[in-house]
Amino acid sequence: MSKQKEKKEKNDKKKLQLAFYWAASCGGCEIAVLDIDEKILDVAAIADILFWPVAIDTKYKDVEAMEDKSIDVCFFNGSVRTEEQEHLAKLLRQKSKFLVAFGACAVNGGIPGLANVANRDEVFKVAYLDNPSTENKEKVTPKTKVKVKEGTLTLPSFYDTVKSLDQTVDVDYYLPGCPPTPDQIMTAVGAIVENKLPPKGSIIGPLKSVCDECRFEKTEKKIKQIKRVYEVEKIEDKCLLEQGIICLGPATRGGCSARCLDANMPCTGCGGPTPNSLDQGAKMISALASILGLEGEEKMSDEEVQKLIDQVVDPVGTFYKYGLPTALINRRVMQ
Ligand code: SF4
Ligand code: SF4
Ligand code: SF4
Repeated sequence: MSKQKEKKEKNDKKKLQLAFYWAASCGGCEIAVLDIDEKILDVAAIADILFWPVAIDTKYKDVEAMEDKSIDVCFFNGSVRTEEQEHLAKLLRQKSKFLVAFGACAVNGGIPGLANVANRDEVFKVAYLDNPSTENKEKVTPKTKVKVKEGTLTLPSFYDTVKSLDQTVDVDYYLPGCPPTPDQIMTAVGAIVENKLPPKGSIIGPLKSVCDECRFEKTEKKIKQIKRVYEVEKIEDKCLLEQGIICLGPATRGGCSARCLDANMPCTGCGGPTPNSLDQGAKMISALASILGLEGEEKMSDEEVQKLIDQVVDPVGTFYKYGLPTALINRRVMQ
């Protein structure tokens, strides 16, 4: 072997061996990786990508043939809702030194996790049967095995419950956000490259809330009415919560530089619970109760209290948009 080739092989061996996988994902986390723009070239200079179904044609059998722990870091996005995703989560865990839950879906179950208010049959009913945009006269729903004249076709089974990655396998680090911002991604990559990783189990993000990063200041103003964004004629340049718009900033971990607020849109909670908070929705409900003046609840009639509560349209979707699977109450109890 020529010296040059030997040197190249040696350098290549030193490169980080990375993998990316998407499970129950919208693809946004994959795009977020490309959103780091030209920094992707810096990543390419120091890393080889061994597996990335959205971009390169590595087969599952190629991953199965890899030695255990031969992938240095696997970034896994999407939640786990099918047999195939569970298999890949277990396989990539086995093959990777570090497994990073990348994005809100992997970290807390994400938007797909809202399906935990239903089960598989109900999801299939809405997706394939009771759907104004779908014509399905034979009422066909996905089956794990279908016989066709060429043989038997198979599909992975679809589970009743959506899970976060760490409800399926052991996770080393968490990178929240829907999707994580380019800065958050580069912070994580930098920590890996410089071997400055925080303790196992850490969330790679600051120990503060979105309110701490928000350009608006919160005062002690109480509100009487909850409004949706479209109901507010003119959004003023002040805390949205104090204008009656539900903003999950007080209950959400920062790290995104409060980017939604820069666009005058409320935080919907994609950074997950604030540090030391067990349940993001419960924390937000408590923050909302105090600003709504529910502390004087004992002086209000049941009807008045109910009227205030009824103003929250879609409470599960509002308070647990990105994290129902990891909430204290994490699914509807089914018969
Ligand atoms: S975290 Fe957001 S962007 Fe990433 S896969 Fe889930 S829904 Fe898509
Ligand atoms: S509640 Fe929302 S708008 Fe108000 S300070 Fe916090 S993040 Fe900003
Ligand atoms: S402001 Fe809230 S919803 Fe928007 S990116 Fe930040 S954490 Fe996510």
